[in-house]
Amino acid sequence: MEREETCTLLLLISDDPGTITTVAVHLDYEQFCLLIVKKIRNCLQVVERNIPGVIMLDAQMKNVEQIWQYLTAEKPVRFPVILITTRETRLKSEAPGQVDEILYKPLDPLEMKARLADLQIIIEMERQLKTKKSFFEGRPKILLAEDSAVQRSILTRLLARAGFEVYTAADGEEALEVVDRTLPDVILLDLMLPRLDGLEVCRRLKAHPSTAEIPVVFITSSQSVEEKIKALEGGAHDFLVKPVNPEELVVRIKSVLRHKKLLETLTVQASKDPLTGLDNRRQLMMDLHLEMQRARRYKTPLALILLDVDYFKKYNDTHGHPAGDEILRQLAALLAGNIRAHDKVARYGGEEFVVILPHTDLKGAAAVAEKLRRLVEEQPFPREETQPGGKLTISLGVAGFPAHADNVEDLLRLADKAMYRAKAAGRNRVAVAGPE
Ligand code: GH3
Ligand code: MG
Ligand code: MG
Ligand code: MG
Repeated sequence: MEREETCTLLLLISDDPGTITTVAVHLDYEQFCLLIVKKIRNCLQVVERNIPGVIMLDAQMKNVEQIWQYLTAEKPVRFPVILITTRETRLKSEAPGQVDEILYKPLDPLEMKARLADLQIIIEMERQLKTKKSFFEGRPKILLAEDSAVQRSILTRLLARAGFEVYTAADGEEALEVVDRTLPDVILLDLMLPRLDGLEVCRRLKAHPSTAEIPVVFITSSQSVEEKIKALEGGAHDFLVKPVNPEELVVRIKSVLRHKKLLETLTVQASKDPLTGLDNRRQLMMDLHLEMQRARRYKTPLALILLDVDYFKKYNDTHGHPAGDEILRQLAALLAGNIRAHDKVARYGGEEFVVILPHTDLKGAAAVAEKLRRLVEEQPFPREETQPGGKLTISLGVAGFPAHADNVEDLLRLADKAMYRAKAAGRNRVAVAGPE
């Protein structure tokens, strides 16, 4: 039973004995169940009846055009399609834009398994994260680092036609310069480059936080496995073999962009609070530690405001939890819209928020806190008239470095203590921490 739940139906549409054998022998049957269709005219029926999870389509089959459109159309969901072709076959021009992966005959079993497994993961994660299937929006920026002027101009034209914004570099040094200047979405890097070779360029990119996440696709001139391993160990996301096949080029780049988007989505989800869109507590703690380090190193002041909604339980009890959520969203937007560019506001938890104020002394922080208090008091929140005093309000505690503490934990604790003094003194007010 369990098997069935995790097994993806792979539909292989091919009449080529070599292809069928390779797939049948090497497929990972822990993950896939295999269904083979050898005639195009049977395809639609099989697809409709079985709803495959992945389709491998042999581009050289007779009458393949008859199902091409159907398979790659955006129905409610589009089938993931892996195209099996040869390097010599000329595909219809729109083909590469519509497939998820491309494999060449004779199929390399290892590559087939790797690409299938990868696609499977991507599809599953996209489903869970509910990201759009569209691989890229706008015009992604591609850096093409290639020393042959002829190759450069051919590939540039191909990439431009596929909708990418192309930047070029003729050697390794120039590649690094262009990356710094343009921060491309993907880097196509010739392994053999003058001045700095591709591997060294890649190594330097990976060593820098600002460029480490940019995916690199190597262009190698040899089919040798050692070269490929070297490229992947050097931090490459993927590789293309010269002469670069136009279809493969586009499919690979799209696949890389898809990975990148997924990673970005995951990163955002890990740092943001889904209700308010503000940074979450995890991100707040990272930022706070960083700011505290900076403040200590450069001997600049750092202040913190901890704020909490007054009588929020009453609001929830009166108007319901969804209405309470709406208040938190509006409050978050109000706070975020009224702090300076280098200040940060995060949701600390429940109805508590924290504002980080770098380079700000206690007097400045108290002034900011008072400004925020007044803004909230004056903001007309929905149905706030049922709150005590007829207004939705917040209480705020302020603490700072070096006045009160020189570490994040104590600063938070003291701001919290101050906030409770503000509550005890009647709420809708600011309290600054006292000396420990
Ligand atoms: P005080 O003025 O002392 O802060 O009173 P309070 O009612 O705000 O404090 P209390 O800690 O008793 O209640 C906090 C309330 O905040 C209770 C909880 O249901 C509500 N709350 C926490 N997180 C959320 C949230 O994500 N959405 C909604 N709607 N309510 C939340
Ligand atoms: Mg609270
Ligand atoms: Mg509260
Ligand atoms: Mg108000």
